[in-house]
Amino acid sequence: MSETMKAYIEQAERDLLHTYNRYQIVIDRGEGVCLYDTDGKKYLDFVSGIAVFALGYGNKEYNDALKAQIDKVIHTSNYYYNVPAVEAARKLKAVSGMDRVFFTNSGAEAVEGAIKAARKYAYLKDKTTDHEIIAMNHSFHGRTFGALSVTGNPKYREPFEPMIGHVKFADLNDVESVKKQITDKTCAVILETVQGEGGLFPAEEGFLRQVRDICDEKDILLILDEIQCGMGRTGYMYAWQRYGVKPDIMTTAKALGCGVPVGAFLMTEKVAQNSLAAGDHGTTYGGNPLACAAVEKVLDLFEKDHIIENVREVAPYLEQRLDELKDRYDCITERRGAGLMQGLVFSRPVRDIIDRAMEKGLILINAGADIIRLVPPLVITKKNVDEMVSVLDTCIGS
Ligand SMILES: *Cc1c(COP(=O)(O)O)cnc(C)c1O
Repeated sequence: MSETMKAYIEQAERDLLHTYNRYQIVIDRGEGVCLYDTDGKKYLDFVSGIAVFALGYGNKEYNDALKAQIDKVIHTSNYYYNVPAVEAARKLKAVSGMDRVFFTNSGAEAVEGAIKAARKYAYLKDKTTDHEIIAMNHSFHGRTFGALSVTGNPKYREPFEPMIGHVKFADLNDVESVKKQITDKTCAVILETVQGEGGLFPAEEGFLRQVRDICDEKDILLILDEIQCGMGRTGYMYAWQRYGVKPDIMTTAKALGCGVPVGAFLMTEKVAQNSLAAGDHGTTYGGNPLACAAVEKVLDLFEKDHIIENVREVAPYLEQRLDELKDRYDCITERRGAGLMQGLVFSRPVRDIIDRAMEKGLILINAGADIIRLVPPLVITKKNVDEMVSVLDTCIGS
């Protein structure tokens, strides 16, 4: 590492709040599926900014669309209409099959909005408060209070108690555990269609169907958090589309703007007509013209560049190559996930493996202490998979 890079890192550790144990690299620029650090060293990127940069770095059409919007107008206000927001909402509705869109600045904020919509829906029905939400163990929904309150990891929640009240936890893929938590006060069930941070656990079709049925029967809202698993990552625009189990409210973010901070929560017309009304919710930046120009172009490019088709072609190959690794190493106990959202589960912490990979020019990330998570740009090729596997193979050791 050069003295210059070392100095940046030291300065960062002096000036930035230390809320991350960062890897020792200062990223300078990106190109395709590769990143370069400030020393000019090249890295193959199998993280894509945590499932964000789906299109790869330096996509000319995407960059040009943002530059054009910057020259027109970057921000207005949600008190006026703007063309990128109108177009982005139309396109997002078309790919999601949902009816109404509220743009946010982040994933956590989309979850906040979803929770508010669910509570308001229940409030309008019976004019009481104290409605309950059922969330899943091992879930991750973000770091703000509402999102944290439904995050099934006590370690993240405990120092910040009290959370918002009346949240109960059940187990993903265990419908009985969900039933046990249901009361007359339940207003929503929230879950990730494929759990990301919590360990790459996909929700099973039967579980999703049964939860959907219970929700229909009792007029409970099903909120699917598609922030990480959505936007093509599993080979479907939204992971729930694989089984056709449609949510009442859905959250999306991460790859939605491919790097420009933007998220959204979407709902059916029925929920829209019976929940948040004028004055109930707002945001200064949410869905501003720059963010929405990004969303619009991302959705165009997904179609034009056949991004989902690429995921469907490359993902089985990634699974196969990871399974081969698993078979060769005793310390790898499982491979699980969906599409280009895969986890290699180890019987020991993986930090040293990730450090070694980084030295050898491969960027990986963990999910929990013992899982290597692979969430590459959705434009990767089978050759990139081979490159990744051959480097990772030399980093595992015993
Ligand atoms: C990342 C993530 C969030 C939080 O999104 P932020 O943009 O970091 O606030 C919420 N839910 C899921 C499933 C995520 O992966």
